[in-house]
Amino acid sequence: MDAGTVRSWMSASAAAIREQRDYLTQLDAAIGDADHGANMDRGFTAVLEQLDAAEASQPPGKLLLTAGSTLVSTVGGASGPLWGTALRRAGRALGEEVEFDGPQLAAALEAALGGVVELGAAAEGEKTMVDSLAPAVRTLREQLAGGSELGPALAAARAASEEGMRATVPLQATKGRASYLGERSIGHQDPGATSTALIVAALEQAISRGA
Ligand code: ADP
Ligand code: MG
Repeated sequence: MDAGTVRSWMSASAAAIREQRDYLTQLDAAIGDADHGANMDRGFTAVLEQLDAAEASQPPGKLLLTAGSTLVSTVGGASGPLWGTALRRAGRALGEEVEFDGPQLAAALEAALGGVVELGAAAEGEKTMVDSLAPAVRTLREQLAGGSELGPALAAARAASEEGMRATVPLQATKGRASYLGERSIGHQDPGATSTALIVAALEQAISRGA
């Protein structure tokens, strides 16, 4: 995997978010302020513009740093700084290498999760994006450690993130805007966990297409 993989991942993420923009906004209308689809779409559209403008020779880590900074600076909602920090941490983890392998990808995603948790202070079970990102990272690690090939490992990680996303429905939010609703946040799927599952699925897509 290389810079092209990161570019495909970001393009596939942007496309999925654009397609699900209204759905993400509907989810946020139920337990937030109805801007999540617009926030993520604005952010990822800007990411693609910045990556198009970036020199072709830039390594994958550098592209992720650019993508992360772009999300931080273009998204007003909580999700921008959170996903922005995640991508910046992933980029920093990849460093200056031109290519990366499965374990390096898992380490980068672990760093991404670490960034989200450090900034947002949410643990699993608080009805946030952590509920879909953490199981994805854990599953990828476990699958690779157990000897799985990257393709099946990422498919399992994607399934785990979707399961985590669906498992936010019965939870009460204790972090972010949805926490203001208290018990009334129960019974709705978390918007950030939903967009995160799309971004994880986009990664699987980008890597299976490139393989
Ligand atoms: P805002 O809440 O500022 O309007 P968005 O609507 O774009 O921002 O994003 C909301 C999503 O951000 C939530 O669904 C949740 O997944 C995520 N989120 C909010 N606060 C936190 C936090 N402290 N830690 C992790 N994720 C969070
Ligand atoms: Mg919102």
